[in-house]
Amino acid sequence: MILIKSDSQIAYMRKANIIVRDTLDLLREHTKPGVSTYELNKLAHDYIVSQNATPSFLNYNGFPASICVSVDCEVVHGIPSKRKILQEGQIVSYDCGAIFNGWHGDAARTVAVGIISPECQRLIEVTEQCFFEGVKIIKAGETRLGDLGHAIQAYAESFGYGVVRDLVGHGIGREMHEDPEVPNYGTAGHGMRLSHGMTVAIEPMITMGTYKVDWSADGWTVKTRDRKPASHYENTIAILDNGIEILSL
Ligand code: MG
Ligand code: MG
Repeated sequence: MILIKSDSQIAYMRKANIIVRDTLDLLREHTKPGVSTYELNKLAHDYIVSQNATPSFLNYNGFPASICVSVDCEVVHGIPSKRKILQEGQIVSYDCGAIFNGWHGDAARTVAVGIISPECQRLIEVTEQCFFEGVKIIKAGETRLGDLGHAIQAYAESFGYGVVRDLVGHGIGREMHEDPEVPNYGTAGHGMRLSHGMTVAIEPMITMGTYKVDWSADGWTVKTRDRKPASHYENTIAILDNGIEILSL
């Protein structure tokens, strides 16, 4: 079931997403070789709580931390730990969610640790641009989910990258994951139309090699099957009659 949001509900979601955005900015500032992902998790947790919000990932289906931290070939859902220390040349994806006044925000960024290879830099940039290639075609009441997925997929694949199929974006609101599913791949002209008042998280997960992924023994961490690097970029958007508002930018 698709839940359409009112302007006042979107205003709460705006606040939740600004907290998420600022948390991700804080994580970016503190990203450097030698920092433990445990410390970064604590930084994010304390900031979200200081804003009178709740970290939505903590205990979500048993997830043991307030953010996901995924390094290099880890696509998403990496678990922060004292033993997981950032190293020069890695790329690290932060995925963060917060609840404010009962409404959710959700966004993700991939960040360089020190100096990274030009190949990894390009992967990060193309993944971000995938999001914008999708958003720029959305017209309320016209664009279908397949059009959106197709735009993202076509852009990523034009660089020879893989588009993860096993994980997708989603509706968001009073729950972190609502209908509809929002794939980063698809066939133009297919799927339901995006309409006024829908709020969705669009989150391209783009890989340097195969799009196929494996789940790790910890039950959470998703890695590329060929162990090549992956990048993740996400924002929550609201679809309005006069255009798209990116709530987490
Ligand atoms: Mg997310
Ligand atoms: Mg999400």
